[in-house]
Amino acid sequence: MFEKILIANRGEIALRIQRACRELGIRTVMVHSEADTEAKYVKLADESVCIGPAASRDSYLNIPAIISAAEVTDSEAIHPGYGFLSENADFAEKVEGSGFVFIGPRPENIRLMGDKVSAKAAMTKAGVPCVPGSEGALPDDPKEIVRIARSIGYPVIIKAAGGGGGRGMRVVHTEAALLNAVNMTRGEALAAFSNGTVYMEKFLDNPRHIEIQVLADAHRNAVYLGERDCSMQRRHQKILEEAPAPDLPAKLRDKVGELCAEACRKINYRGAGTFEFLYQDGEFYFIEMNTRVQVEHPVTELITGIDIVQEQIQIAAGEKLSLRQKDIEFRGHAIECRINAEDPYKFTPSPGKITSYHSPGGPGIRVDSHVYAGYTVPPYYDSMVGKVIAYGANRDQAIRRMRIALSEMAVEGIKTNIPLHLELLNDGLFLRGGTSIHYLEQKLAQEPKDTQVK
Ligand code: ADP
Repeated sequence: MFEKILIANRGEIALRIQRACRELGIRTVMVHSEADTEAKYVKLADESVCIGPAASRDSYLNIPAIISAAEVTDSEAIHPGYGFLSENADFAEKVEGSGFVFIGPRPENIRLMGDKVSAKAAMTKAGVPCVPGSEGALPDDPKEIVRIARSIGYPVIIKAAGGGGGRGMRVVHTEAALLNAVNMTRGEALAAFSNGTVYMEKFLDNPRHIEIQVLADAHRNAVYLGERDCSMQRRHQKILEEAPAPDLPAKLRDKVGELCAEACRKINYRGAGTFEFLYQDGEFYFIEMNTRVQVEHPVTELITGIDIVQEQIQIAAGEKLSLRQKDIEFRGHAIECRINAEDPYKFTPSPGKITSYHSPGGPGIRVDSHVYAGYTVPPYYDSMVGKVIAYGANRDQAIRRMRIALSEMAVEGIKTNIPLHLELLNDGLFLRGGTSIHYLEQKLAQEPKDTQVK
């Protein structure tokens, strides 16, 4: 096992990884930007290194600075968390090329899955069901593009091969709008991801977002840890996630889960990973794979009792998975609410000093957050300030516990989306379970802002 790990991230996930390391008896090095120098989780680490100014490109995305920090601190491995460099194959390669272990998949797997066109091709080959669409990238010939769209049937969605974070997608309802939409998505994709490749998929009108968590070791062993339902989204960004997915037949879950584990063995995948699917009318359609730990991993940890971050570290150290599929049981229900520093209805970011803070607790409540009274939420990064996760024997108990937790939680000085979560936790269709990825936006559009509970 490693003696010292460098954590190349910030905020709640940096603290989450630090806790996993401490439990495993591993010393930690926190790298941080000038904006995060005073954060308590930085002080809690065994060592810390400032790697640059506040702007991410100068610090958390600064590959030479991070590798130098690993060198001067004699770190053995680097955990990238999520976001930032976590899915950057060049970074993984440079880390390994400099003699450190990258806590994540092999660079070639990151590269394969980072391009959604090659990811879909690989998954089709591995027998994982995909959304019907263009075979590979869209050609330049406009006639050919029109023909492909006709054969798929409208509406279609144009997606950037290099897209991520809900960006680089455009829905097209009519042939008249098609070519313009393809050109615009291409242009945006080139500007945002330096890759103008786009592809086309059938736009599913009413799907749920259901994803499968996997763990694979370096010895071609792989297991799946069940599914998560992340359909509650705004602008393709998840805000509330749960496991298991309401009313998903266990047999179907096991069938798709086994396909995902088998796909990992086939591509020689290593580490934690998530296969994301759209689910509609009883069918699963693969959309992409995330080759890193995800924000919503705690709901899976609570229903399986498995520490996904510790597993990542053990796998990176070359250990064989100690878990067998038949030993993995799913018990109870877990829900996660992402707490964002933002206006709950206008969604404008609300950084600033937290003047007073009270964290919830009690049976079944887990809070993953790096903030505290007196902490200043910097304006430079993602607005998520933490996650509240509620576990119950069943969905109903998890929801009741979450309502109590969020009603106890107090964050003053900044705005948060807690009021929106509380409203959702009392929403009739959410309570029934199984709402589609469009539900939250439809609900927000229906309710005029001034009638909403603040
Ligand atoms: P990203 O990498 O940006 O997260 P994804 O491919 O995972 O992109 O898609 C993000 C979200 O976009 C999905 O969760 C879903 O809400 C929507 N989406 C993507 N593809 C389709 C599709 N074919 N039909 C309907 N919605 C889609």
